[in-house]
Parts: sequence; structure tokens; C-alpha cells
Amino acid sequence: MYRITLREGREKLPMKHHPWVFSGAIRRIEPKAVEAGWADVFTSDGRFIAHGWYDEKSHIVLHLISWKENESMDDECIARLVTESVRRRSIISEGSTTAYRLIHGEADFLPGIAADIYGKEIRIVISSRFADHFLPVIAEALDNELSPDIIEASVDKAYAGSEGLKERTRTFIRGKETDDDFSGRSAQEFLEDGIRYSIEPGKGQKSGFYCDQRVNRKIVERYAAGKRVLDLFSFTGGFTLHALRGGCASVDSVDSSFPAIKALEDNIRRNEDEGILPEGSAERSNQYVSDCFDFLRSSENGRYDMMILDPPKLAKTKSALENALRAYKDLNRVAMLKIEDGGIIATFSCSGAVTREDFRMMLSWAAADAGVEIQLIETLSAGPDHPVRLSFPESEYLKGYIIRVLKG
Ligand code: SAH
Repeated sequence: MYRITLREGREKLPMKHHPWVFSGAIRRIEPKAVEAGWADVFTSDGRFIAHGWYDEKSHIVLHLISWKENESMDDECIARLVTESVRRRSIISEGSTTAYRLIHGEADFLPGIAADIYGKEIRIVISSRFADHFLPVIAEALDNELSPDIIEASVDKAYAGSEGLKERTRTFIRGKETDDDFSGRSAQEFLEDGIRYSIEPGKGQKSGFYCDQRVNRKIVERYAAGKRVLDLFSFTGGFTLHALRGGCASVDSVDSSFPAIKALEDNIRRNEDEGILPEGSAERSNQYVSDCFDFLRSSENGRYDMMILDPPKLAKTKSALENALRAYKDLNRVAMLKIEDGGIIATFSCSGAVTREDFRMMLSWAAADAGVEIQLIETLSAGPDHPVRLSFPESEYLKGYIIRVLKG
């Protein structure tokens, strides 16, 4: 167990339960750290702040986990945090949704771990050395609670370099790690809000599906009746399928990923065949493998009266913020120019570095440049399986609005 003393003036955020401590904030470590391990963390004048995990090879050298002084930090504590996180999801459990987030990283006191369940399969994405270290404990706790057929954990590419983690996939069966190859297994089926999807073994982006948009897809469905919809950055069609179920007149879906567009086509056909989507859904939809910025720029004015803009994380870090805001603004400005008068845009940012205020400001600049008025009709965020921990504002990464564009 290490004893870590923070520098004077650098204690405020940790004392307010922010979980990240960078090396510059640390004054002393006793004894000298030779390997990763648990640490008790103190203010410069010796008052206890929190228990944390120290690993000098991580770009965040100290992750604070518990602010309860008498808590003992060990594998059991991690297993308990996993169990508590899973049990908090009982609010999601409804028969028509079998895919949702089980662990939302720091917001659930488990740094760098995103775990999603899809039917009988759990996919974990790791973005910290802490998560990599405790993975066997986490997998066992998830297995005890949910008995999935398989748990697969992969390393988030964006963090592999800065965390010094090998990009590999680890597999757990009945809670135990195995080297056996399960990549030949059949696709896992799951339901989201009554719509049928599947994820292929080991393939796909993120953990295979974006459960964070579940509640927003439902909202978009309510606006879709009779609309000519453009779903930009469609991935496998979450918004497209809801627009079709909501009775849109047509929907064009655009993504740069061919496999995503292929899966989207399959999803439409399949849900129509099973009577989940209205008859004629496949005929009302068109798919394009294309760059969304180019597609939008070359689309005809007034061709659409509803658009969904759900780009990938454009700001990966705080320093990339300015460029990212420019890209968000460009996208939203062109959408505002192209959409029919009175049209509806569902616009999102999933960059943790972009605050809600930044996002709103960007929208007002985009509207001014496009020479339109916009009304914010609904404020959107990730669903209740992606809690925002107020002491960790970065957990509010997904923000969005339904806006109405008025051209006068
Ligand atoms: N709306 C989707 C999730 C979007 S994730 C859903 O509801 O599931 C972002 C998507 O943008 C990814 O599928 C990625 O392939 C795609 N993408 C990233 N950059 C792009 C670009 N410049 N043009 C088109 N698609 C892009």
C-alpha cells in the first residue's frame, strides 16, 4: 500500500471526488513506487482524501476509487463495485430491450471500463491499465451476477498507446479466462425497444452497438411521421429503423463504413419481414457508403425535412476542442442551410471535451452563419444506463438537441 501526498493547491478536485490525478499533482509517494498498487491519498497537511490505484505507466497515474476512509481496497471491493453497478441497471430491464450498458467507467467508480450486455453476451471495452489489471475480477463478478454465454474484452484503440496496452481481445467463459477461439460462433441477437439487431463476434466499432442513443432513437421516432429523413453517420441504423417505425415518407442513411451500411440494410429487411417495421420500409429507404460532410454538401436544398447528425467523437482531447467545434459548426451550418423551412434536426456531440454550453454556442453560431433562426425543442442526453456523475463532469459526454429550423 502506497501513501501518496498531493501538492498544495492540487487537492481541490480530488477532494470534490473528481477521480483523476496526474503526476504533476503528486508531491510524495512512500515507499518509492516500483509497481502498480493501491494507495491512500492525503492532502499536503496530512488529511485523508481517498483510496486510489497508482500506476506510473498510466497517463492518469492515480485513479481515485473510494472516498470512504475505512473501506479496505482489494479484489473483493472491485467485485462489489461491479455487482452494485449491474444492480443499478434494474431500471432498464424491460422485455423489449436486451442491450444496455452495465458499467459506465468512472461514473460507476470503475475507471476505464465500459461494459455492455447484448442478449447473452457481454462486451467490455478497456481504456485504462486499471481496467486491464482487474479484468479477471470484473469478468468473474459479471458472470456471477448475469451468467452470460461469453464475455469478451478488447482494448480501446484510442488509449492503447497512451496506456501502454497491447491491442488484444480476451475471452471469459463462465467467468474464467480462456485461450479457446470462439470467433466462429454465430451472431448474437438482441432487442432494443422492440427492434431486432445482431452483433457479429469480435467485429464492429466500440463494443458493437451504440446503446447510449436508445432513448434518443425513441424520441426521433415521434417526429418522423411523413418526413423525408436524412440519417447521417447512421452506423447500423438505430435512428433509421426508428424513423421507419415512426412512419417516415423516406429515409436516406449515410455512413463511411461499408459493413455498417450492409448491416443496416439487413436490419431493415429483417425487421420488416418480422412485422416490426411497416410494410414497404425497405422500399422507402436508401443507403449510401459515403463521407457525410461531402454527401450533405452535394445534397439538394429542401430535399429533407428531418435530419439526424450523430458524428463520431470529433474532439478526442481538450486541446483538440477548437478544431472539433469548427467541424461541428460546419456540419450543423450546412444542415441548417439544406433542410426545408420548418425542418427538424436531431444533432449530437459525443465528445467529452465539448460541454453543453460549447455545443449550444456552436449551434447559435451555425444558425447565424446560415442566416436562420433555430428553436431548441428538446434537450437530449444518454439514457439512464449511462449515468452522469456530477463530480466527474466528463461523464456527460453525449449531448444533443432536437431543433426546428425557421427560415422566414
Ligand atoms: N448514429 C449511429 C452511431 C454513429 S457512430 C447509431 O445510432 O448507431 C459514428 C459513425 O460515423 C460510425 O458508424 C462511423 O463509421 C461513421 N463515420 C465517421 N466519420 C464519418 C464520415 N466522415 N462520413 C461518414 N461516416 C463517418
